[in-house]
Amino acid sequence: MSLNGKVALVTGSTSGIGLGIARALAAEGADILLNGFGDPGQIEALRQEIAAASGVRVGYSGADISRPDEVAGMVRQAAEELGGPDILVNNAGIQFVASIADFPAGQWDRVIAINLSGAFHAMKAAIPGMQARGWGRIINVASAHGLVASTQKAAYVAAKHGIVGLTKVAALELANSGITANAICPGWVLTPLVQKQLDDRAAREGKSLQQITHELLTEKQPMAKFSTPESIGALAVFLCSEAAATMTGAPISIDGGWVSQ
Ligand code: NAD
Repeated sequence: MSLNGKVALVTGSTSGIGLGIARALAAEGADILLNGFGDPGQIEALRQEIAAASGVRVGYSGADISRPDEVAGMVRQAAEELGGPDILVNNAGIQFVASIADFPAGQWDRVIAINLSGAFHAMKAAIPGMQARGWGRIINVASAHGLVASTQKAAYVAAKHGIVGLTKVAALELANSGITANAICPGWVLTPLVQKQLDDRAAREGKSLQQITHELLTEKQPMAKFSTPESIGALAVFLCSEAAATMTGAPISIDGGWVSQ
């Protein structure tokens, strides 16, 4: 297990991609601080399940990533309960779909707060400890929408382009500190976030879920296939490895060819 003795904080890890990353890092021996919303009983069951499956310590923070004070408290909690954090995965994210003229200002603020500013506040809180230890891995979960745009997703596309830029700044500032910062840019991954978009669109257009799924995949991705939370988790493990020690500032696509077009 390559990550024995390391502590990973994964935001938005009660579901989807974050959960896939948390499981993969735990399987490599990292202790984990989970974060995200959900039913307390289910989160506790998840915490116990990951701890038992991988023999690591697993904690939980219910911090709301849209609140800077709670984000700083979450990083402190990781340090006090588990140590580190040596690995910070900024993954928590939401979506809101509307054209710019119709986009509610409050939804803009909320998407930017969670998908972009939360990552800044977590990095600000976690970097001094990583510098003191001389090792760190920052992994920001961006998106194909960090590199190219789609209609109806102004706040999401702006936040994801922003997080790719933030990742590059961190890579430059931390270049000779033993800390790397990279951005994973997935295409479509079937998670509750995407399931909601599929359900909404199927209802709106009166088509079957199967038809809508095929349309959604093929209008953007040459590969008509979802990436999985497990594959994103495996990529995160690679970014934490010694082999990736000089990989930094990179937006890494795992998107079925989406941004090759
Ligand atoms: P998801 O809805 O399954 O999971 C989102 C997680 O974030 C959950 O654990 C949720 O509780 C948490 N979260 C939401 N708001 C929060 C807040 N204010 N504070 C703390 N936690 C909060 O979504 P997902 O598809 O797994 O998305 C995870 C990340 O991957 C997001 O940043 C998303 O933009 C990105 N992404 C997803 C896809 C995809 O196709 N699913 C593609 C590219 C990028």
